[in-house]
Amino acid sequence: GDNFPPPAEVPRDKLLGGLLPAGFDEHSCLSRYQSILYHKVLPRKPSSHLISRLRNYEALHKRCGPHTESYHRALENLKAGQHISSDCNYVVWVSFSGLGNRILSLASAFLYALLTDRVLLVDPGTDIPDLFCEPFPETSWLLPSDFPITDQFKSFDQKSPHSYGNMLKSNVLGNSTVSKFPPFIYLHLVHDYDDQDKLFFCEQDQAVLQNVPWLIMKTDNYFVPSLFLIPSFEQELTDLFPEKDTVFHHLGRYLFHPTNSVWGLITRYYHAYLARADEKIGIQIRVFDTGPGPFKHVLDQILDCTRKEDLLPQITEKEPITNPFGNLKTKAVLMTSLNSGYFEAVRNVYWEYPTVTGEMIAVYQPSHEEYQQTEKHMHNRKAWAEMYLLSLTDKLVTSSWSTFGYVAQSLGGLKPWILYKPENMTAPNPACRRAMSMEPCFHAPPFYDCKRKTGIDTGILVPHVRHCEDMSWGLKLV
Ligand code: GDP
Repeated sequence: GDNFPPPAEVPRDKLLGGLLPAGFDEHSCLSRYQSILYHKVLPRKPSSHLISRLRNYEALHKRCGPHTESYHRALENLKAGQHISSDCNYVVWVSFSGLGNRILSLASAFLYALLTDRVLLVDPGTDIPDLFCEPFPETSWLLPSDFPITDQFKSFDQKSPHSYGNMLKSNVLGNSTVSKFPPFIYLHLVHDYDDQDKLFFCEQDQAVLQNVPWLIMKTDNYFVPSLFLIPSFEQELTDLFPEKDTVFHHLGRYLFHPTNSVWGLITRYYHAYLARADEKIGIQIRVFDTGPGPFKHVLDQILDCTRKEDLLPQITEKEPITNPFGNLKTKAVLMTSLNSGYFEAVRNVYWEYPTVTGEMIAVYQPSHEEYQQTEKHMHNRKAWAEMYLLSLTDKLVTSSWSTFGYVAQSLGGLKPWILYKPENMTAPNPACRRAMSMEPCFHAPPFYDCKRKTGIDTGILVPHVRHCEDMSWGLKLV
């Protein structure tokens, strides 16, 4: 009979158009080659230049990565405090801030490594290996536990004498020849960084940093848009990303593969609640106001946006007319939020009243963790799973300022509707707007003209770097 569906089609392109390297063991990281079964196939293909640079990077990482001869030599220099030129240079990404911020900053650090021929090593923090598979074949991106300055990572901050900004202030670099350069420099690119730290984004300063074998980077930002404004990187970035609004989309899918435990959270939830719906709508609610919530003005805003933008149907007070034998269309709404108030209210609206279209609206929320608990494993696994689930929806509504939402939209290749940030506890009007691109917003960009040494609006210099929809001083690629 017809009871058995045809066997699932063998995925055409589990390497995502050559973005992913072949040859990984599939069982140790199921998501790597299964993601294609869940994500929509997008017309946005990685460029052949990006693909070849990634393969070259993988070879470099294998040659210079942890426990290689080159790594040990570079480490000796670091320990001895000497500067002997070595064939491998590194950027160490320090685990810092919430998960969405970390995913965006890690992708930024990787792109920086790619542009500067450095090897990216990742401070595992408390949970990186619990959340992400290794992205590079036959090596590891994790910084070994005996790295000599790991115990200083916590103390690195804006005041740190090892920071590039403070070294400039005390003129240690200006007076020394390259051979006297320190073996490492701390790059403070956290939102509280100052004008000197921000010189990182100047071509002249990049030329100086080239001479430093170890860069230790702490950041909570997606700083990619400002890399596009550094003249020496411009051509290479254009070759890598002819479609400039796809940077995180491609790098995110290349780098971030959920571990099997997280993949279980994603796939079980997907099949139980989302897979069979005719359409999947994601709504990501992140409220930065203090106070417990849920807030009425936020609920009003959600309903206003989703109905005006035709994402969810209007309701009617009339008696429902449903044809029990008809083919009922269903929309699955995946909501994410730290609390459950908004989800319960939206679900109730569509239970208590019929829709004018006759569609059935099923509303789900995987967790309500109440507050941010960055140190807990299951908490972060769920946060990662929820970002990923949102990326699997057809249409997405996100909250202003939230990196959690940025990760979901870019991974999914979705231009979200962004809920404006409420002011004075009132729902903004209009409630939301469509984003210009799927790219994340850089929240703390520099506003400096490196050549003329004056302030400048970096959001109006080139057509592809613009101010963000949700943060007027932010920058994003479009
Ligand atoms: P941002 O603060 O919105 O930019 O996003 P981050 O991910 O950097 O930090 C927020 C953190 O709060 C997340 O990493 C989670 O730990 C937690 N969080 C915020 N919203 C949610 C949510 O909807 N679901 C879950 N599971 N956790 C959330």
